[in-house]
Amino acid sequence: MSLVVVFTFNDFSENTYLIYDDSKECIIIDPGNNNPQEDKTLSDFISANQLKPVRLINTHCHLDHVFGNKYVADTYQLDLEIHQGELPVLEASPAVANMYGIPYPNVSPTPTVFLEPGQEIAFGTTKLSIHFTPGHSPASVSFYNQEEAYIIGGDVLFQGSIGRTDLPGGHFDTLIQSIKDTFLTLPDETRVYSGHGPATTVGVERLHNPFLQ
Ligand SMILES: [Zn+2]
Ligand SMILES: [Zn+2]
Repeated sequence: MSLVVVFTFNDFSENTYLIYDDSKECIIIDPGNNNPQEDKTLSDFISANQLKPVRLINTHCHLDHVFGNKYVADTYQLDLEIHQGELPVLEASPAVANMYGIPYPNVSPTPTVFLEPGQEIAFGTTKLSIHFTPGHSPASVSFYNQEEAYIIGGDVLFQGSIGRTDLPGGHFDTLIQSIKDTFLTLPDETRVYSGHGPATTVGVERLHNPFLQ
């Protein structure tokens, strides 16, 4: 049985996910912590619950999802894992920070391990399958826990909305297809944990999301 913990960090109100189970191993997805206070919030939770971080993963590499990569990688000696197709996005992040005028002193490390759709992320007793869900970003991936009926979807699908498609590598039709091919094939009760805003479910979005009617 895994627990999904959400922290909302940085100027973009980005959702950082930490998932742990009875083994006390945890994975950190999209660490958006971008100042010493946010770093401490994340680390304090990990120490208070005596967790052992074992994987550092990004759904995609927009700036708001990678701010804390270096802190987590250095603090817990983890290698970053992303889809290879997100490398150009990651490499552009310092320039994007510059453009927005946002301090980004802890530039993300470059990954050496790449996530392969169809494979699993396994830690403790938990398994998440990796799904290729591009459209918001060129190679966004989502992580699905079939047994416990939830998906970590990054900025693909939001409560009542979808990810923006006007950033480099974004494509509206591709995004809608990703949502249909991955999210809408899942059972209605599946919880969707998004990169921004509250969690929702596949069933609610299937019925009410204006972009999916
Ligand atoms: Zn994004
Ligand atoms: Zn985002």
